[in-house]
Amino acid sequence: MLETFMRSMLLALARGKLPNRLAKRYGLRLGAGRFVAGVTIREAIETVRELNRQGKLATLDYLGEFVGSAEEAAHTAGMCLSTLSAIAASDVRANLSLKLTSLGLDVEEALCLAHMRDILREAERHGLFVRIDMEDFSHCERTIRIYKTLRREFAHVGIAIQAYLYRSLEDVRDLETLGANLRLVKGAYKESAEVAFPRKADVDAQFLELIRMHLSSGCYTAVATHDPRIVDAAMAFIAETSIPGDRYEFQMLFGIGEELQQRLTEAGCKVRVYVPFGADWFGYFMRRLAERPANVWFVVKNLFRRRDAA
Ligand SMILES: Cc1cc2nc3c(=O)[nH]c(=O)nc-3n(C[C@H](O)[C@H](O)[C@H](O)COP(=O)(O)OP(=O)(O)OC[C@H]3O[C@@H](n4cnc5c(N)ncnc54)[C@H](O)[C@@H]3O)c2cc1C
Repeated sequence: MLETFMRSMLLALARGKLPNRLAKRYGLRLGAGRFVAGVTIREAIETVRELNRQGKLATLDYLGEFVGSAEEAAHTAGMCLSTLSAIAASDVRANLSLKLTSLGLDVEEALCLAHMRDILREAERHGLFVRIDMEDFSHCERTIRIYKTLRREFAHVGIAIQAYLYRSLEDVRDLETLGANLRLVKGAYKESAEVAFPRKADVDAQFLELIRMHLSSGCYTAVATHDPRIVDAAMAFIAETSIPGDRYEFQMLFGIGEELQQRLTEAGCKVRVYVPFGADWFGYFMRRLAERPANVWFVVKNLFRRRDAA
């Protein structure tokens, strides 16, 4: 009960413009550095270098929330292009993840599509892959529509699909006809029971069903979770059905599930870490706290540590 309340509160804070603005002004405090690689591209590349040294791949995400104008969308698109150039110039093993709202999806769909085409052309030039994150349900239909348009033009673009949505089984079947490279996740936003399974057990069951279905389709599958039960079930299915190693990878978020990342890397699996960076870190940070309200104690402890130090 308390946990549900706390989760709703944290997800509401994630969407609040004022808390986001304040957080931006006061910098990466409250322990957000555990989940966010820094504010600049340089800091993000250093983090990727360290992950590469540990045998892991990365996907870089420039955090941009509440993009409400064409200028802000152009700024994010520019940062995505710079991130691709920085990955290529530093020769790290990474690709790019992005959110369509940060490229102006809520301003104008055609503008967002144009930015995506620029980004994909630049990625193609460097031989890099780009993944579209999935946001809340109100953006799902448009995100899939844009992805399908882009997938017909470019090979090196993928999308994330959320297991908690009832519609996802149909979406995955449909996307498989395009040979889609999918990142499968449980889903991180607060959605109503009209569109998403309210019970965790149902989400987990559909998650496993989607993983098995997409792995069997011959398309590339990124299993993105820190849940060891799901990882073990996916591994068992992969072994049983002899899915080749170049058809799948595991993905986890920076700062979470490090032991599991290590176990999979040592077992010879491809592990990719999602590395967010940028000044707009607050919404991302709140979604991570909401997934595990115990993390809030980590923030509180951090606050006191800062006060001791001051
Ligand atoms: C690489 C990657 C990309 C993602 N992209 C998207 C996306 O595009 N759209 C979207 O909606 N969601 C995305 N997510 C988030 C996802 O939907 C889940 O909210 C998140 O992964 C938590 O669910 P879980 O699968 O880890 O399972 P859970 O059952 O939530 O957690 C399993 C275990 O993992 C650990 N854990 C999970 N979360 C945390 C945390 N925040 N802090 C500390 N420990 C934790 C705990 O030990 C927990 O018991 C992404 C996740 C990953 C890993």
